[in-house]
Amino acid sequence: MIRGDLLYEGKAKKLYRTDDPNVLWVEYKDDATAFNGEKKAQLAGKGEMNNRIAAFFFRYLRENGVDNHFLQEVSPTEQWVRKVTIIPLEVVVRNRAAGSMAKRLGLEEGRMLPRPIVEFYYKNDELKDPLITEDHIDVLGLATVDQREEMKRIALQVNDLLGKKMQELGVTLVDFKLEFGIDPDGRLILADEISPDTCRFWDVKTGKVLDKDRFRRDLGNVVEAYREIWNRLEGTTP
Ligand code: UDP
Repeated sequence: MIRGDLLYEGKAKKLYRTDDPNVLWVEYKDDATAFNGEKKAQLAGKGEMNNRIAAFFFRYLRENGVDNHFLQEVSPTEQWVRKVTIIPLEVVVRNRAAGSMAKRLGLEEGRMLPRPIVEFYYKNDELKDPLITEDHIDVLGLATVDQREEMKRIALQVNDLLGKKMQELGVTLVDFKLEFGIDPDGRLILADEISPDTCRFWDVKTGKVLDKDRFRRDLGNVVEAYREIWNRLEGTTP
């Protein structure tokens, strides 16, 4: 496979074309951003951790029946993925109140929810990714009703699988964000990234934050925390 032109550069990843029109070449960067790009830093080693962790999760999910865009790792910071057209929605699953939900609804950070919930955010930098209702998704034509229901079903299935895996490793899965795409055959598949940049992970015993909140909240040792997640995953079979 040959790495072709840069197709798109995002906040944390670069996407290149390849000589196969159905395959993209993803490079995970060391750049960290938060608050819609207002806060920025370079964190040496973050790209490698996220590439390895995302590859692990995608493999684990596939082995447990959740198809996704991941193909294979090609270097410590790079992986091949199937080319899909990303649906401009962020699908967030929450087990506990945290982050924007805790703030919006005045809930204590860490409060257990009676059941996992799914939220949709409209991916739009200008609008700062607003929370969006199912009717909004429908009338804006962002996804069909079937696609929306399928995204919810898969998101909750991912929550069960990731939650179980992380619990075994002594980590609480607080919440996470997924993105979906449509493949050339029109099928909806899980895509993008699953990593400490896109999940909240808390150590079960100590409550230590092991995710991007270390960067957002200036807690320090960001990459060390990501490495701790990777070290725990690495020792297990997917
Ligand atoms: N999230 C993400 N990308 C975003 C917004 C949120 O990966 O653009 C993840 C975030 O890391 C957390 C979950 O989605 O695991 C819920 O985030 P929240 O809505 O609480 O927003 P935050 O306060 O983290 O910006």
